[in-house]
Amino acid sequence: MHTYITTTIPYVNARPHIGFALELVQADVLARHRRGRGDRVRFQAGTDDNSLKNVLAAETAGVDVREFVDGNARAFLALGPALSLTVDDVIRTSSDLRHRPGVERVWRACAAAGDLYRKRYEGLYCTGCEQFYSPADLRDGRCPEHETEPQRVAEENWFFRLSRYGEPLREAITRGELRIEPAGRRNEVLAFIAGGLEDFSVSRPAERAGGWGIPVPGDPGQVIYVWWDALCNYITALGYGTDGDAYREWWTGARRVHLLGKGVLRFHAVYWPAMLLSSGQPLPTDIYVHDYLTAGGRKISKSSGAAADPAELASEYGTDAVRWWLLREVPRVGDADFTVERMIARADDELANGLGNLVNRVVAMIRRYRDGRVPGPQPVPDGGEDLDAACRRAGDRVGAALAGFDFRRATAAVWAIADEANRFVNRVRPWDLARAERAGDTGAGRRLDAVLYALFGACLALGRELEPFLPDGAARIDCQCTALDGRLPDPSPVFRRLA
Ligand SMILES: [Zn+2]
Repeated sequence: MHTYITTTIPYVNARPHIGFALELVQADVLARHRRGRGDRVRFQAGTDDNSLKNVLAAETAGVDVREFVDGNARAFLALGPALSLTVDDVIRTSSDLRHRPGVERVWRACAAAGDLYRKRYEGLYCTGCEQFYSPADLRDGRCPEHETEPQRVAEENWFFRLSRYGEPLREAITRGELRIEPAGRRNEVLAFIAGGLEDFSVSRPAERAGGWGIPVPGDPGQVIYVWWDALCNYITALGYGTDGDAYREWWTGARRVHLLGKGVLRFHAVYWPAMLLSSGQPLPTDIYVHDYLTAGGRKISKSSGAAADPAELASEYGTDAVRWWLLREVPRVGDADFTVERMIARADDELANGLGNLVNRVVAMIRRYRDGRVPGPQPVPDGGEDLDAACRRAGDRVGAALAGFDFRRATAAVWAIADEANRFVNRVRPWDLARAERAGDTGAGRRLDAVLYALFGACLALGRELEPFLPDGAARIDCQCTALDGRLPDPSPVFRRLA
């Protein structure tokens, strides 16, 4: 099975924030999980360079647009190593040679289908959103996302016949060919379609775009709407514009999974699929929509400063702490509030004290009571049934949770192993068994073998199941559980305490 996983490509008008790290980490977990199950996976990310927002932000900063975009794009790319991401491919829409031919090809295919036409248009445009708003969509005359007054714009543009695609889209969604999760988001899209789809503007005068962007094929006075341009990245990176093999392998022949935030749902679940239908291509198979993070109770946006810079957080507190907070605390539905204090508390409680302490104790006991040699296979000890079940079921529970994009439930299944194991240790008190064994009780010695074997099995299961979520921590657990010359290494902390 092939799985193609994409994140959205953010504007690079400022440095990345923790909200975008959420999407990257979620996508990375899915990619690692599918690879671990034997799938072939392609995980793609990128940056949206062709936005008018970038032009405006560069002007404000008094910097050349290219230089400005390159600098911020580098900060986004640096998230890869900082968050231990296994991104296979990165596309930058302004400089990647694969991009423009693909965008132009989609345009020509839609034109050939009779879905593009020129029209004079007057409307209210929010540059922050890069979209026109109808007066009914505004809040007190202001953009609901940016709380700024939109500009009145009158110009002749190219339009896309979205109005033709309401019924085919509705069918694809209700039949499950285009799966949108969570269900509330699917219903939101269906309600939007039921309200009637209007054709939308898909070009801008080149002049208003500051010359930045891709010219409309055959009409160089116009540039292609930045959203059209950006959405195409999902296939241009696969060589759609040049008949690349990757396109056949990863678009027509794979499960196609888009991750995105709720603010860009309509673009991904309506506009993009309609463009694909018009140009005769398969739709994405899965769209997973996450909600937003706030930081200290306030909305995070790229322009709100260095509030929560994921690369800085990872370098100060470790990649594991950042990833664990994002995966463990952010619900599948509803917003979550990020604070450094919450991240530290969660990491110390569950990683240092819970998981780390367990591995440390088990390795230390095997060294003290068995000279570092793990006992050979043993039956499940009395009282160890719940632990045994948590270990055996974790894989299936993680798989089921991730099939529904429920990262919190998936990490809970892994955490259950550590939780059961810690409870088991406190109940069976291996140190008492060791004392009894030393006093000549051979029954206690046999029971100690079974207990240590079960606990060591739990550590192995933790290392294995934790890999998609905390690859660095999982590698350290594996290291602690790997015998050299038949003996486990000295115990050393798997997760450091942060508080
Ligand atoms: Zn706006």
